[in-house]
Formats: sequence, C-alpha cells, structure tokens
Amino acid sequence: MCARFPDFRLGNVLATSFTGTLSERHGNRVERIPTPHRLIDWLAVNGLAVDSCTTAQLDHARELRESIHAAATAAALQEGLPPSAVHVINACSTQGRAAAFLTPEGKRRWRLGSASCVEDALSVIAADAISIIAGERDGKLALCASPTCRAAFFDTSRSRTRKWCDMNTCGNRQKKARFNANQRTAPGSAD
Ligand SMILES: [Zn+2]
Repeated sequence: MCARFPDFRLGNVLATSFTGTLSERHGNRVERIPTPHRLIDWLAVNGLAVDSCTTAQLDHARELRESIHAAATAAALQEGLPPSAVHVINACSTQGRAAAFLTPEGKRRWRLGSASCVEDALSVIAADAISIIAGERDGKLALCASPTCRAAFFDTSRSRTRKWCDMNTCGNRQKKARFNANQRTAPGSAD
C-alpha cells in the first residue's frame, strides 16, 4: 500500500516470518514493521487481522519478536534458552485469547477475541514459536549463512541442509557475490 515501507518477506512458518520483519540484524537493519499500521498489515497478510494497534502494542510485538529471535537462535545453536526471552514468549502466549477453527475446506484459521486483538494475535505467534523451538514440528531451526543476516529459520527441507533464511534475498545475494568473485578471479571463464 505504501511504497515507502519495506516489503514483507513471506514464509510458511509464522514465528520465523515474524522474526523476519527485522532483517539484516548484523548489517544495515531493515525494519519492516516501522509503524503500528505496518504491524496491522503484516498480521492481516498472515491471517491474524486486527482492527487497531497502538504504539505500545507495536513495542510489545517487537519485544516478542526479538525474544523469539533470541530463543530460536539459541535453539539453532543448541545453547541454553535465554530466560528473559522464554519469559516474554510465555507471557505473550498466555495473555491472548485466540481460537483455532476449521474451515469447511479443511484449513485452520484463527479467530481472535474482541477486546485486545493484537495481544491475541501475538499469542498465536508465541505459540507457533514454542512449537518449533520445542521441536514438536517436522523441521530444524537453523541460522542463515549470510553474515549480515543470521536470521533463524525453520528448515523443512528433506536433507535439512538449507543455508539461507530466504532464497530470494540472502540466497540470491550470495549467488551473485559468488558469481562476481568468479568473474574477478577468472575473467572470461563465465563466458
Ligand atoms: Zn538471511
């Protein structure tokens, strides 16, 4: 809608798509939910539409996001989970009132409670994070190989050897960098 805001990166895992709303954490950071309205947009795209969002709720969402990032990173590295991150994830998970429901087509959708919708949406994201960090889903948490990114992502490839959080951004950039390096070291070899 607003061209001046960075696009969302869409993935099929809710919790890591959410942590992906801040990218290039070790480079030139890109904040993809810079305003409450962009959080509303992101939630709508991810099946968690809310009516409104305050600045405080955006701050709360970002706190959850960074807590999921910290816990998922620790899990990917097989290190102990940071207690403060676990606390935030659990608090968010228990604070919301969201119900899963089944569509006639057999899809799962979420129905958020009426009073505090952002909190309800965050509880769904927190529960999703818990399920992947706890190892309950088929896949493996890993860190993006890009040194400026290092995003935690959920590898569901059969071989569990995915290297990039996102093929269209980090993967592609790496491919281009390798291509350029080859061009420099062996001019003409790519012709
Ligand atoms: Zn990446």
